[in-house]
Amino acid sequence: MPVIDGVKLTVQGEIAENQIHDLLEEEKSRFAAKGKKLARVELEADGDEVIVRSFEASPIKRVRRITGYLAPTDNWNAAKQAELRDRVVQANLTAVLGKGGVEPLGVKLRVNGLSYESVVDGPGIRDTLFVQGCPRRCLGCHNPGSWDFSGGVEVDVAEAIAALPFSPLVYGVTFSGGEPFCQAEALLPIARHVKRLDLSLWVYTGYTWEELLDLLDPAVWELLTLADVVVDGPFVRELADLGLAFRGSANQRLIDVRASLEKGETVLWELRRAEILA
Ligand code: SF4
Repeated sequence: MPVIDGVKLTVQGEIAENQIHDLLEEEKSRFAAKGKKLARVELEADGDEVIVRSFEASPIKRVRRITGYLAPTDNWNAAKQAELRDRVVQANLTAVLGKGGVEPLGVKLRVNGLSYESVVDGPGIRDTLFVQGCPRRCLGCHNPGSWDFSGGVEVDVAEAIAALPFSPLVYGVTFSGGEPFCQAEALLPIARHVKRLDLSLWVYTGYTWEELLDLLDPAVWELLTLADVVVDGPFVRELADLGLAFRGSANQRLIDVRASLEKGETVLWELRRAEILA
């Protein structure tokens, strides 16, 4: 059975090719208006007329997008899965970084991964830079591959700057880990770049807010002042809760950095929808 314009076709008698195409277009639009897709049709010539003897239609599979990602409403297919995989998978660092053509800044950063268009590391679509090395070693850590301080890939920060943001849709950049504050100095040029672009900057840390302030390290302090939100504290498995937004366990806090520094007390961040939609 031949397939014409995506429709399986059976023709009985003599029907001109252009007549078949016109008829198929007509039938396809008729079914599309009902939310269906013409799959098979049987045509028969009857004198000067063409009769549609039988047809078969299938419902159109619809998908919708949620914050830029494909989400299934009918069922998954390989293409949808591939798109989702491609867009949320952690990028291959050696493919993204170290491409050359970037003037080095001479500041080295050890990186664990880079995830483009994340929707779980803060509000809006974000690029998340996972740094390498974490002293905390929390039980149930989301990323134990980031613990080893000699693992990952060492890059010049200019390369990381060149890789961020990935697209104009990106609302913010998140530093995650590993422990970003163990490489605060190297992260500073990236943080300044992010703020120059007026993007939101979130930093995940295994330190508590109070511990960070006690570090009295100028680079830690500057990174703090550049961040909009710090998600603080180690992951505690007994307090884990999948229902929590942007954090793994209930002890962790989303801290509004600017408000906290201004008031001299810990102020929690609140989601302001207008901020994301702007
Ligand atoms: S602080 Fe974060 S990266 Fe470090 S071990 Fe804990 S959960 Fe993992």
